[in-house]
Amino acid sequence: MHVCVLGAGVVGLTTAWSLARDGHDVTIVEARDGAALEASFANGGQLSYSYVAPLADPAVLPKLPAWLLKRDSALRFIPRFDVGQWRWCAAFLLACRSHRARQTALELLSLGALSKAALHEIVGSEPLVSDSFDYVRNGKLVVYRDAREFERARHKMELLVEAGSDQRALDASQCAALEPALARAQPLLAGGIHTPSEEAGDCQRFTSALADVLQRRNGVTIRYETRVRELVSDGSRIVAARTAGGDIEADAFVVALGLGSVPLLGALGVRLPVYPLTGYSLTIRDADPRNTPGVSVTDLHRKVVYAPLGGRLRIAGMVEIAGLKDAQRAGRIALLKRQAQEIFPAAGDYANAQTWCGHRPATPDSKPLIGRTPYRNLWLNTGHGALGFTLACGSARVIADAIAGREPSIDIAAYAYDR
Ligand SMILES: Cc1cc2nc3c(=O)[nH]c(=O)nc-3n(C[C@H](O)[C@H](O)[C@H](O)COP(=O)(O)OP(=O)(O)OC[C@H]3O[C@@H](n4cnc5c(N)ncnc54)[C@H](O)[C@@H]3O)c2cc1C
Repeated sequence: MHVCVLGAGVVGLTTAWSLARDGHDVTIVEARDGAALEASFANGGQLSYSYVAPLADPAVLPKLPAWLLKRDSALRFIPRFDVGQWRWCAAFLLACRSHRARQTALELLSLGALSKAALHEIVGSEPLVSDSFDYVRNGKLVVYRDAREFERARHKMELLVEAGSDQRALDASQCAALEPALARAQPLLAGGIHTPSEEAGDCQRFTSALADVLQRRNGVTIRYETRVRELVSDGSRIVAARTAGGDIEADAFVVALGLGSVPLLGALGVRLPVYPLTGYSLTIRDADPRNTPGVSVTDLHRKVVYAPLGGRLRIAGMVEIAGLKDAQRAGRIALLKRQAQEIFPAAGDYANAQTWCGHRPATPDSKPLIGRTPYRNLWLNTGHGALGFTLACGSARVIADAIAGREPSIDIAAYAYDR
């Protein structure tokens, strides 16, 4: 079957890999002149399969005033005259109900486990990919500054450990012993939770390497600099993706366009609950190995993540619910630098760090949209929010199973766009 995958971010490329493995003839269509130049470009690099809890959680409700009023809050809500923003926020608040948040966390844990296995399969079978993206199985240390917050986390962890999870709680000195680069920050810390099985890597390099491998070995065609303007339907199915260079026909289409999915599907009468959540990152080149973490670190208080990427240190954080315009770039980058220097003051040259602002294509409940649409041959794999790198390989396997008519190993109905 000829399948057209729309979008060459991490979700589109992993989808293409799974489809090519099934023997399909695959064409990828991408507006930019390379792979992973939008949300997948300089993200936090975390492959954080055990930390997939949704943003929408009962614990966020008391924090809402700070989101609105405090300029240095890690999460900020900046109201706009935008129905899409208000609709998304209303759905987000509904998703904060405890039973829904719990159910979502369990579903995402299953998808995370599947993703880990699927990424390992790619890494095991594609040496050109595994050698190219600074992939490390280095574990993750989530550090807490507030003693009560640490106690709550420790309690949650004990439940997970009883269920078989490999995690342990460390006091501040044990955190610094595990990760010597934290020594100077030790007085700030109440403790941490260490998960040795977590991983990290460079999402953009991973995606680009997949693109190379697919083009060279699997005969996948990638049409860069080709924006899809419209999906042409005959009423029940999609017959072509319309571009300035002509129509691209296929037997099936998979929409993996991140934020670009919303207008294209909207024109077909399918409303996707996806909204941009803006974030920022810094990349320090030639990071000082003695003062740079070897494990991935999350500073939970600041909601900032740190990943060592082959001599570089990637630092990412912040969530702004503010639409695509007016990203508060300069101020937020300066804040991120100050916050990173509190924890890793001597990691490297902060003044010349590469800076990036990206938009997570997020659903209100943090679950991606995977599966069918009202059009028989049009499939969705989009809306991965803050977890696209972590969940891409599993989502790709699920959509490939669905297209092949196989039963996916997770309940795909939980990811329906109109759930
Ligand atoms: C600051 C930040 C930190 C993050 N940290 C992490 C992390 O540590 N771990 C993690 O798992 N996730 C993280 N994420 C989330 C992750 O980066 C995203 O979920 C993921 O990149 C989404 O991938 P995607 O392929 O769906 O979207 P994209 O990468 O945006 O890809 C969509 C592609 O579609 C193309 N496109 C759009 N419209 C059209 C059109 N009409 N025609 C043709 N092409 C089109 C775009 O050019 C783009 O290349 C982070 C995100 C941000 C912003």
